[in-house]
Amino acid sequence: MKEPKIIAIANQKGGVGKTTTAINLAAALVESGQKVMLIDLDPQGNASTGLGIEPDQRDMTTYDLLIEDAPVSAVLHKTEIEGLYLCPATTDLSSADMELVSTEKRSYLLHDALRHPDVDAYEFDYILIDCPPSLSLLTVNAMVAAHSVLVPLQAEFFALEGLSQLMLTIREIRQSANRSLRIEGVVLTMYDVRNNLSQQVEADARATLGELVFRTMIPRNVRVSEAPSYAMPVLSYDSASRGAVAYRALATELVSRHAAVKKGA
Ligand code: ADP
Ligand code: MG
Repeated sequence: MKEPKIIAIANQKGGVGKTTTAINLAAALVESGQKVMLIDLDPQGNASTGLGIEPDQRDMTTYDLLIEDAPVSAVLHKTEIEGLYLCPATTDLSSADMELVSTEKRSYLLHDALRHPDVDAYEFDYILIDCPPSLSLLTVNAMVAAHSVLVPLQAEFFALEGLSQLMLTIREIRQSANRSLRIEGVVLTMYDVRNNLSQQVEADARATLGELVFRTMIPRNVRVSEAPSYAMPVLSYDSASRGAVAYRALATELVSRHAAVKKGA
């Protein structure tokens, strides 16, 4: 039986490219023949909108998965892209954060939902989780459920500042609920080669984090930011754009790293 690799895409800062990376990495993995589920874990629901699932279509959502014990089959939407499935979110997910505080096993809700036999039947290769811009219980649920955390880092001043808090949270989760949680890697986003600051952030990130930083960097590219308003990944919107090419390269790098880990290299 196939065990999907579960990756939480997290950074408590907003606007760093989490949702963009979730959508486009998912699309690039699908393009390379993987079957992927994307879980929208942000009450803002940007990943859901970006993949063309309108609010009035979201009758069952991640909220139901976490709080109402709804089976994944009742919540999942097929998207326009064959092989890409979405678990959508609406604003009611923000109240889940409050409700979770009073539940026992509150950090394990997503973990348990994703280990249900119902999920096995889909035979997903990857499950990506688009986290909200906080280190709330929702993000904790993602990290407890995941095998690894992928961190988008916007190539701008102060980018590295918030990282220590994130790393601390990952360490705490390793010590409590999820011993084997790995850091998948840090991906530089909105990178601008003509900008000295981008290069400075890259140099700092590589010096501090070493191998954790993906070789692939995502350039700032207007096609990337336009794609969500057409409700599609940039890979579909403009397949040859620099953004699409970069997300394909990121998917290739991610998959080859997994292959290397498997071989024990
Ligand atoms: P987050 O989910 O971390 O809050 P988003 O993925 O929503 O961040 O990105 C924030 C904004 O930056 C969005 O308007 C998005 O379109 C834009 N953006 C993200 N990545 C790029 C990129 N590579 N090039 C241009 N714009 C981008
Ligand atoms: Mg987002």
